[in-house]
Amino acid sequence: TYVQSMEVVEKPGVRYEDIGGLAEQIRELREVVEMPLKNPELFEEIGIEPPKGVLLYGPPGCGKTLLAKAVAAESNATFIAIVGSELVQKFIGEGARIVRELFELARRKAPSIVFIDEIDAIAAKRIDIGTSGEREVQRTLMQLLAEIDGFKPLDRVKIIAATNRIDILDPAILRPGRFDRIIEVPLPDLNGRLEIFRIHTRRMRLAGDVDFMELARLTNGFTGAEIKAVVTEAGYNAIRENRRQVSMRDFLKAVEKLREKKRLRGVEEY
Ligand code: ATP
Repeated sequence: TYVQSMEVVEKPGVRYEDIGGLAEQIRELREVVEMPLKNPELFEEIGIEPPKGVLLYGPPGCGKTLLAKAVAAESNATFIAIVGSELVQKFIGEGARIVRELFELARRKAPSIVFIDEIDAIAAKRIDIGTSGEREVQRTLMQLLAEIDGFKPLDRVKIIAATNRIDILDPAILRPGRFDRIIEVPLPDLNGRLEIFRIHTRRMRLAGDVDFMELARLTNGFTGAEIKAVVTEAGYNAIRENRRQVSMRDFLKAVEKLREKKRLRGVEEY
């Protein structure tokens, strides 16, 4: 029954080295997720409790899902993912049951990481819980909180949630013992963009004139996902002109195209 509602990956193929510009976030996740999963006895000996849940927040396309997958892979943990908005829109009336099954599965497949994307869809502050739809969302959230409260900090299940709307979250989920570690995943800075360009061109045949530092400068405000799109588009530009190497001009054209796309999207948002 969970096949349609959850993505279960025994061990995702993402490594820390595939993530650009988020060294500090990786360091923190290793400390609060990877180490407790791998060496719970260490924490027992010293006598500290790691957080059960971690909240990642920041704009879309900057690496939240990537971070969750990489920490699962590097912890040798099963990765179980669910999307908050799907839980309330696609599986009406079944949210609480799916959450229960999700954690059953996580316990059975431990060590595991439960990743809840778009948690704001089930955990937004509500002014009015009068409608039946709202009550259903509320029940799903209650089930989630009960599951989190039900296990111990050193049980081999960790929860990572992601949102780009931290401002609307119900403070109940941020209480101690729940998602009490909050990590920002911001837009990449100059150095981050440079790293992301290098990562996504690792297997690309590049002409000698390609200058990533210049490209990083030209892509201020781009997300990681947009930089990846620039790289793909640059590759297409070379293919279209029947060349076997990707040149700086291909990249510059791609940056312009993405910039235009971003501009149009910006207009639509109004
Ligand atoms: P969403 O909020 O939409 O879930 P997200 O922050 O989880 O966004 P990802 O799904 O991790 O973003 O990123 C989308 C894709 O963009 C990734 O699969 C990857 O190819 C690329 N990408 C994004 N951020 C980075 C990064 N920091 N380093 C390398 N690649 C990145």
